[in-house]
Amino acid sequence: MNGDKLVIAIDGPAGAGKSTIAKEIAKILNLEYVDTGAMYRALTLKVINSGIAIDDIENIIKLANSTSIKFQNNKIYLDGTAVDEDIRKNIVNNNVSNIAKIKEIREIMVDMQQKMAMDSNIIMDGRDIGTVVLPNANYKFFLIASVEERARRRYLEIMEKKQEDISYEKVLEDIKKRDTIDSTRDIAPLKKAPEAHIIDSTDKSIEETVREIINIIEGR
Ligand code: C5P
Repeated sequence: MNGDKLVIAIDGPAGAGKSTIAKEIAKILNLEYVDTGAMYRALTLKVINSGIAIDDIENIIKLANSTSIKFQNNKIYLDGTAVDEDIRKNIVNNNVSNIAKIKEIREIMVDMQQKMAMDSNIIMDGRDIGTVVLPNANYKFFLIASVEERARRRYLEIMEKKQEDISYEKVLEDIKKRDTIDSTRDIAPLKKAPEAHIIDSTDKSIEETVREIINIIEGR
């Protein structure tokens, strides 16, 4: 299926802790980590910076076709520039789902993601990894948490970074909006693969969640 390679897919809604958990597992099991949400975010940042309207699908596709998105040392590079901080801004949060629902954009991203997974042991997180990008993954997880808890985590993260002035209520509202767009879009909506293990992180620490997943992988 994947030869001798270990391929792990983690999907779930915004703020469920996918990237934090996936990064930890990558360290423990010595895997490459690919944050596919960061790729959609990077393209969204470029669209915004280029002044292209979010509904100008034709020009967004053109832009995507002349964009380079790469990961190196756990940093994401957009056309050669590291953009890890900028892609977490609220303006990106609020526009990314509208770019990610464009069929041609998903085709470009899925193609890049499948190429990234070709020669390494990998853990990839996103919304459609177990269902579309890596359907043959050795292990699939669907990470969930209550929407209030997800909003609380995002809010604390924003406050910690002193990035922006935003209320908890607004963060909650934005996450609910993103959940709706991500799970109701026509192409590759957020969906649990039938064989994915559901992991609920609502009342669990990062360590407990990581342990639960590692135990499944190690067959304990
Ligand atoms: O994971 P993160 O919250 O950073 O993802 C940002 C957005 O990118 C999601 O809300 C979703 O619209 C889009 N996305 C996607 N498919 C993926 C990963 C992310 O549509 N595999």
